[in-house]
Amino acid sequence: MVILMARTIYDLINKDHIVVVNFSGGKDSTCTLLKVLEMKIPIHKIVYMKVVGNTYPKIEDYLKGILKIIDKYYPGTLKLFEIIECKTKCRMHNCFEDFWEYALRYAGFPVPHVGLWCLTHFKLEGYHRWIKEKLKVEYHKVISVVGIKKGDSHWRKRWLSEHGELVPPNTTDVRITKTWKWFPIMSMTNEELWSYLKENYPEVYDYLWSENYGKRISLSQCLLCPYRSKGEVQALARLGFRGWMLEKIDMLLQNEKGYRLSKQILLRIKRWILETSHEITKWIEFT
Ligand code: SF4
Repeated sequence: MVILMARTIYDLINKDHIVVVNFSGGKDSTCTLLKVLEMKIPIHKIVYMKVVGNTYPKIEDYLKGILKIIDKYYPGTLKLFEIIECKTKCRMHNCFEDFWEYALRYAGFPVPHVGLWCLTHFKLEGYHRWIKEKLKVEYHKVISVVGIKKGDSHWRKRWLSEHGELVPPNTTDVRITKTWKWFPIMSMTNEELWSYLKENYPEVYDYLWSENYGKRISLSQCLLCPYRSKGEVQALARLGFRGWMLEKIDMLLQNEKGYRLSKQILLRIKRWILETSHEITKWIEFT
């Protein structure tokens, strides 16, 4: 299967296609990157989609830390890395807005399933703009490698089983991408991913635990995200983001924009934050 897939990808590369690995620094995208490197598929770029305004401030150091370790196994990996600054274009004022500017002016806080505008208007739009303006390649010539799995949700299980590991451009999806999409780890489970890392790349495994998962938060995810659990929100508060998160939440709560559910989600997150003691939190400068 692996050989067959490598052959198919090579066929596309021979027809001027390029491979771009979407990398967020979590276990899924790290394993995805390692699988592609193992298959000796030439990678054009490794990109992190930074949602401007809502990203962990030291994310670049964290991501480069993993890639430096991977670079020891596969020299040249680090130099392929690039951060895509994802903003959205306000067509009314013809300017670019960050996460909070857009939420405040128009959309409110994102709501899973109903109004997850951050994925489409920031990540996807930012990615497509980068392909067009920076790579200057036609969308259908790009193979985007993405670390998603069947086990992530019922919806993904159904969608991935239906479409398979390599999906042509413009296939219907919540996040309709104009590029090819390749999901090398789609059939793996979380347990398999962790043992794969531990057995084959112990330094990468240790780094992920000491710098990210051991802190009980996913650093690569947006700081304020509707998918964050109570434990993660409270861990972020203790890490020094208490004041910053409360400020952003209050700013949106005073605003009438967005879905009714936006406010409910914000109020729930605010309650979790307020449950953490103010004294034990340490303010770290948010730059
Ligand atoms: S991490 Fe959360 S807030 Fe950020 S783009 Fe994804 S779903 Fe939206």
